[in-house]
Amino acid sequence: MFVRELNIPVRSIKGIGERKALKLCEAGIIDIAAVLTRFPKDYEDRSRSVPLIDYNKQRNICTVAQVIAHSTFRFKGELRTKIVIEDETARAVIPCFFKGDYLAKKLVVGDEYRISGHFERNKYGELQSTRIDFEEASITGASSKFGGILPVYYYSDNERNKLLRGTVLSALTLYANNIEDELPQEIIKSEALFSKSRALYALHFPQSMTELETARKTLVFEELFFLEIIVGRRRRRGAAPAQEYSASTTRTLQKKLESRLPFALTNGQRKAIDEINADIGCAVPMARLLQGDVGSGKTLVAFFAALAVIETGAQAALMAPTELLARQHAETAANLLEPLGLRVAFLTGNIKQTGRKPLLTALKNGEIDFIIGTHALFSRDVTYKKLALAIIDEQHRFGVTQRESILAKGNGVSLLMMSATPIPRTLAMTIFGDMDVSVIHDMPPGRKPVITHLARGENEMRVYEFVRDELNAGRQAYFVYPLIEQNDELALKDAESMQKRLSNEIFPQFSSELLHSRINEEEKRAIMRRFRLGETKILVATSVVEVGVDVPNASCMVIEHAERFGLSALHQLRGRVGRGTHQSYCFLIYAQKESIELAGTYAELLTNEERSREGKRLMVMLNETDGFAIAEEDLKFRGYGEITGTEQSGFMRLGIADPLRDLAALERARKLAFAILDEDPSLSLPQNSVIARVLQRSPPFLTA
Ligand code: ADP
Ligand code: MG
Repeated sequence: MFVRELNIPVRSIKGIGERKALKLCEAGIIDIAAVLTRFPKDYEDRSRSVPLIDYNKQRNICTVAQVIAHSTFRFKGELRTKIVIEDETARAVIPCFFKGDYLAKKLVVGDEYRISGHFERNKYGELQSTRIDFEEASITGASSKFGGILPVYYYSDNERNKLLRGTVLSALTLYANNIEDELPQEIIKSEALFSKSRALYALHFPQSMTELETARKTLVFEELFFLEIIVGRRRRRGAAPAQEYSASTTRTLQKKLESRLPFALTNGQRKAIDEINADIGCAVPMARLLQGDVGSGKTLVAFFAALAVIETGAQAALMAPTELLARQHAETAANLLEPLGLRVAFLTGNIKQTGRKPLLTALKNGEIDFIIGTHALFSRDVTYKKLALAIIDEQHRFGVTQRESILAKGNGVSLLMMSATPIPRTLAMTIFGDMDVSVIHDMPPGRKPVITHLARGENEMRVYEFVRDELNAGRQAYFVYPLIEQNDELALKDAESMQKRLSNEIFPQFSSELLHSRINEEEKRAIMRRFRLGETKILVATSVVEVGVDVPNASCMVIEHAERFGLSALHQLRGRVGRGTHQSYCFLIYAQKESIELAGTYAELLTNEERSREGKRLMVMLNETDGFAIAEEDLKFRGYGEITGTEQSGFMRLGIADPLRDLAALERARKLAFAILDEDPSLSLPQNSVIARVLQRSPPFLTA
């Protein structure tokens, strides 16, 4: 029998009476299937003990420590006992908030205990756990509560944790042996997975962390496999018999453009263009994600893609997330493509009615081949004569729903999304599961890697002096700040004040300008133009320069309060320099906030780890130049939801798989699923399976 068929009420388990059943029901668990698929959020590894100093703010640790004293503290005006424990690495306290707490009687001074607790620094800087589980260290064998790996279903509800652990264990004992696999046996074998029954067992009660890994891998793979079966079936339905567009294969325009370029295409660019050409030659609209690190030359690939459709007499549109970037693309396109006879236009929300009307008419009449702009390109009053390709630059800046309004602008519109971060790709694969991916792995030749330095706030002058030398040599510099203007609550430098300071005190002989999101578009454009032309030497900005801005003569990127930026953002900012032939530099100036705030009371109590966390995070920028690796590191420091936006935007959530963390499995599952569909297009999903449930919760376009 399959897990999902175990719709047997929990009451059928011995020991689950009305009261417990009610508790479980409150937690959304009514039948055995639900019990078994309520996967642990975490595990408490009681199989080994860790030193106190390695306490973890996020979770319980299991440690062995000696009680060295019973001390006191005041709680609501009354004296209470506080138990002081110690191992070789640290000292910690366990406060007893209740009068006559039994802990004080059980934990004897001088004795050693195994203790599981959630330790954190309290406001006095002491390590403290307010709730613990413990036993005497002398206890061994079967009577020990410790020694295994415990599932954690709730972080803050110990009672429910215990109830669920017991229920799961009973359910497994009763039913696990009869559970059938849903994945084909060949896959279980070839992927070295567990049977479903063993996987479930080990996921709840693993014998070891390695067993847990395989259990998780099994269930993740199952989920992703069926997800990709759906994606594959949908893709097939869309795949009408492919027919070549007869005229499109001469690629005259592309050849012309290539011959006009002052440089050769990189291998990565060429490969991406080939893949796009192959897609555009088919009757099925393309859906492709083009990934390449900052500076890898994605824009040019986009232009080649546009030429492929324009040559067939259709139109192409390129959408950028900011007006600044759209404007820059439009200028580049005008330079490169107008000489080929293309009619290029620029449209944003800021273009007023007088200019807008004729433009829209021209677009509707097919007098424009290539239109570049912001999301205004897809607003309601815009009609295309024959839109064949929509290109989205920096696609992670746009919401998923925008895709729909874009595709609605034509019949069978092809989609090319461009991104420098690996995150959206994963999301794209799950959400728009039918995306193909092209990756540019190489960089245009002659790029010297940007030299990156970390500097503490108090060393700012040394950085400024360095930049002065570069400016004297004719180069230009960016200075980036986390705030536009001064904020009394935050002791941070801001772009506005710093622009004044830099131009009045530090670099009076060099012209500088201020750029941020509140400056109106026309002014922004003028500022960027002056910087591009080299009339302005220093651009003081917020992260608005993060995306896509291209000024090859700029050789210095100074980011102050680098601690306020995510690593991926820092990488994007750094990508603004190193675009020309000159050696470029990036300075990350950071303030050690923690050590300043905490200096008084208990700075000496901070572990080295706590103290150096910020430095460590930024160190990644010194050692890594690969944007993909940086994004991975960013994940480690910031957590998934924060980066992908999945938490907030309520994208499809899967049961156990996490498309980001499980990317490799996702790709593998996809390959297998597609291969299997090739053999047997009628392969269907298990009724009522996890995937079927997921589909009920997911946005409609997934089921389309
Ligand atoms: P990104 O991939 O970050 O969008 P861009 O498309 O802005 O990168 O390209 C960055 C710079 O590299 C541009 O100045 C562009 O002209 C230049 N470039 C693009 N392709 C090549 C190439 N094959 N050889 C040399 N320079 C190139
Ligand atoms: Mg770009």
